[in-house]
Amino acid sequence: MNRRPFIKKLFQTTGGIYLASQSSLLFGNNSNHNDEKLGIALVGLGSYSKGQLAPALLETQYCYLAGIVTGTKEKESIWAEKYNIKKENIYNYDNYDDIIHNDDIDIIYVVLPNSMHAEFTIRAANAGKHVICEKPMATSVEDCKKMIAACKKANKMLSIGYRLHFDPYHDKIMRIGQNKIYGPMNVESEFSFMLKDQNSWRTKKSLAGGGPLMDLGIYALQASIYSFGELPTSVSATNTTKDTEFFKHIEGSLDWELTFPSGKANCTTSYEKSITAKLTHNLDNEGQVKLQNAFYYNGIKCTTPDGDISFKPVNQQALQMDAFALNILKNTPTLVPGEMGLRDNYLIEKIYESAENNGKVIELNDVPNILDIRK
Ligand code: NAD
Repeated sequence: MNRRPFIKKLFQTTGGIYLASQSSLLFGNNSNHNDEKLGIALVGLGSYSKGQLAPALLETQYCYLAGIVTGTKEKESIWAEKYNIKKENIYNYDNYDDIIHNDDIDIIYVVLPNSMHAEFTIRAANAGKHVICEKPMATSVEDCKKMIAACKKANKMLSIGYRLHFDPYHDKIMRIGQNKIYGPMNVESEFSFMLKDQNSWRTKKSLAGGGPLMDLGIYALQASIYSFGELPTSVSATNTTKDTEFFKHIEGSLDWELTFPSGKANCTTSYEKSITAKLTHNLDNEGQVKLQNAFYYNGIKCTTPDGDISFKPVNQQALQMDAFALNILKNTPTLVPGEMGLRDNYLIEKIYESAENNGKVIELNDVPNILDIRK
């Protein structure tokens, strides 16, 4: 029996965390042998794949970069050489479906412009592969539903690239907020940066689905939900775009307020401001719990009324992908499933609806009921 099916079989028959922690005993201290790991194929080799995901896949214990899918011929040999990718594991957007015949690839990771997520996720599921899809899951709730249905039909797992659920600072903030360690609170959160390139797909509604809310604000939205560990009950939003000439087709800036059973969240996102990434719990009995650089890949800082908290640096993407590989091996649910992506796309649609109606308060009666609870 070759070793990869062997590790898969062990996980499936004996199950669980014990084997996960013992795998280094089975395979040596640092399991660097790719035939013991699940194979991931990255679809779309832009800046996130190149700068974060591929390097992270050199650090993962349970998965590795086995294949690529790219529309740019020149990237093929560069990536093949750099990451030691077999020629037969390189695909383009046309022959992508042939991946069905490739046993090296267990997971497809979709890292394309937002409006392409649905098509490439559905094709991956139809090819019998598990899927990680980048955020936002899609550009409509309708598409999210189709993606979930395709993965269910194929009996494959679907997870969203919500890396911060695997970061220790965000774990801490979830525990503090959800357990009301410092009593009741309201949340403030912002993720903004200056987008200068008008040619970027991020400025095109047909590819991005929307503006900074789809791209950056989704982090503030997520953070407010997992800070309370509750579903919001109403929303009101205001489009605050300054340069309406530059941002003709998408919003340039947006503010929104969510009401939760135990407090409020005020959020901001913008492509018209210098970079800001913060998450604050404003405590009812004064004081704050604060994450600075809150949504960065590293360099997050945490302040609480009891002083600063710091954790050893981690590779968020490596933890995220390893967690999903273990979910597959152990047949356990992912913390960040398609249903969570659907929930967030649903809320994004409501935020836009309110902004288009001058901040009208919209009651949220049927938010998909999925939460990451750390109590
Ligand atoms: P990018 O522009 O750097 O890369 C996009 C890739 O898609 C390129 O390789 C490009 O060639 C390819 N592509 C295929 N068809 C295209 C088309 N019609 N127009 C433009 N590009 C096309 O983008 P990115 O920053 O890598 O973002 C890709 C996805 O990853 C987005 O959904 C984004 O939201 C997500 N992302 C997530 C994180 C995170 O922290 N989780 C960070 C960055 C990006």
